Amino acid sequence: MKIHAINCGWMRPWGGLLWDRHSTGVGPASLACRCVVVESPEGPILVDTGFGPSDASEPERIHALMRMMDRPDIQPHRSALARVRALGFTPEDVRHIVMTHLDFDHAGGLTDFPWAKVHVTATELRAARARDGMKARMRWSPLQLRADFVEHEAPGESFFDMATLGGLPAGLRFVPLPGHSPGHAAVAIPAEKGWVLHAGDAIFDARELEGPGKAPPLTLAYENAMQVDPIARHASAEALRLLRRQAPEDITILCTHDPVLHPSVRLAAEPGLND
Ligand SMILES: [Zn+2]
Repeated sequence: MKIHAINCGWMRPWGGLLWDRHSTGVGPASLACRCVVVESPEGPILVDTGFGPSDASEPERIHALMRMMDRPDIQPHRSALARVRALGFTPEDVRHIVMTHLDFDHAGGLTDFPWAKVHVTATELRAARARDGMKARMRWSPLQLRADFVEHEAPGESFFDMATLGGLPAGLRFVPLPGHSPGHAAVAIPAEKGWVLHAGDAIFDARELEGPGKAPPLTLAYENAMQVDPIARHASAEALRLLRRQAPEDITILCTHDPVLHPSVRLAAEPGLND
């Protein structure tokens, strides 16, 4: 299946090069909200949705502290809705959306596709609905999470020795990588050759595939601040590193917030859809 990388919004927290590897000063950094569109026999499938236009017109959809800290830069032409149209589909063609997790910077586009089935792990949906504690209220927004959810918890076929959850459309698989959030999962997508693995926020910077602690300091601090389970998060990152060593040619791994696609990422990334 043909797979397109699309960027559905930026976050511009202060600190520049302390966050990302492209800034030269300590002004606003650039963190992408990378999603993908899978051209499947069941129509285009979105993996994550970044920010939607409503997140700009109704800022209360995002917790004030997260707005202040992350400084989302939301433009309608970067929304998943606009990106899907730019690829030649109508929004109604999108019947399925698969979510790595439900944080505000991934779920903002869900309300633009009210007809779509939104696939998520049962653990993540339970936690997002409970919103237990301050961090939970900061990361999950009930105003964004109005969707036709389909929960997944039954085991699926294994993925390079990793456990999965089954039941996703078009042969996609959830690969649970918890720790950043309770039910966080990577999404494995059968590509024309091998697999693409959207690893969501299991790592924030592709250089973390080379070893722990390889991201800039504020990114590492943010990963720590947003995690729910440090042991699980580090185990999830280690599982990605092992996977890359086991099958480097077969798998393209991408993560959400890296501002540019790592050279190892081999998938359609039209420049106009990733600005
Ligand atoms: Zn995120």
